[in-house]
Amino acid sequence: MPRYDFRCGCGTAFVAGYPLASVPDTAACPDCGNAARRGVSSPHLGRTSSATYGLMDRAARSAHEPQIVSGSVPGARRSPGTPVTTNPLHAKLPRP
Ligand SMILES: [Zn+2]
Repeated sequence: MPRYDFRCGCGTAFVAGYPLASVPDTAACPDCGNAARRGVSSPHLGRTSSATYGLMDRAARSAHEPQIVSGSVPGARRSPGTPVTTNPLHAKLPRP
């Protein structure tokens, strides 16, 4: 998502990301809440990699619509009764 420069009448300058199809002319100032005008500048497209943009988009999407995780969590501990291996030689290995 491209990022755009905004400048408020109170002197605050900030950068906000919007999709190319819906870039607003004004955005709410984080300091005073008034409408800050978008500056004339190119979108900051080349400053980060596409992987970073993908991560930022997923983080923004997850903040509004978190996905429900089903099944086991990777890295979680197995239940005690679940066999880890079926090789009979592994039974002779020392236990912790
Ligand atoms: Zn302001």
